[in-house]
Amino acid sequence: CGIVGYVGPDQAVPVIVEGLTQLEYRGYDSAGLGVLTARGPKIVRAVGRVRDLEAKLPKRLSSTIGIGHTRWATHGPATQANAHPHQSDDGRILLVHNGIIDNAAQLRARLVAEGIEFASDTDTEALAHLIARSQASTLEEQVLDALSQVSGTFAIAVVDSTQADRIVVARRGSPLVLGVGDHEMFVASDPAAIVRHTSSVVHLDDGECAVVTADSFRTFTAESSDTGKQPQTVDAEA
Ligand code: GLU
Repeated sequence: CGIVGYVGPDQAVPVIVEGLTQLEYRGYDSAGLGVLTARGPKIVRAVGRVRDLEAKLPKRLSSTIGIGHTRWATHGPATQANAHPHQSDDGRILLVHNGIIDNAAQLRARLVAEGIEFASDTDTEALAHLIARSQASTLEEQVLDALSQVSGTFAIAVVDSTQADRIVVARRGSPLVLGVGDHEMFVASDPAAIVRHTSSVVHLDDGECAVVTADSFRTFTAESSDTGKQPQTVDAEA
């Protein structure tokens, strides 16, 4: 339902929690976040409100890159195991998703036959495993590779513990924006989650994807051609 991500010099967890709080008005049944730390990826999820998620956060969770989600369940009940982020079985890929993967059952059957153990009932989880199994080199190429096998609607945000400088996002049928800050970058399903941090926003078109690092962003199509989007200034009151 709601997506927020952050990469930059600051602590990611407070930015993500605050952004998720701004998206609460949209309605949801569970919330979660995933960050990359010096000791590897860390996921915290809770059924209920964003404050229930906050209550479960460890005292110290130091990270400068991560993604968060408020879930409105479509595939599988509102449980902690079904809350996002979802993780690939090798632990490398963390992913949040809005929307519905139409061919999730077929993808799951194929991945299970290949020996993958699923940790949730969601349509989303198959996508995390597909990305992790891609032979492409960069995370952005791996995401495109996986998305080429998927039908349905989505906005996704993905981080990779082995390429911990970047967040990759993609949208088909669900909104996504980038927020361009001063040596920091935000991603969100709704500008409301990031307007207090920056008024410089890139609205992704349907079918568009992006890779963001603290100091750069690049937008491209599902066929990997650059779209060269530039930021627009939005009214902070909007
Ligand atoms: N279809 C996904 C799920 O059930 C995402 C739902 C959403 O958009 O929050 O987990």
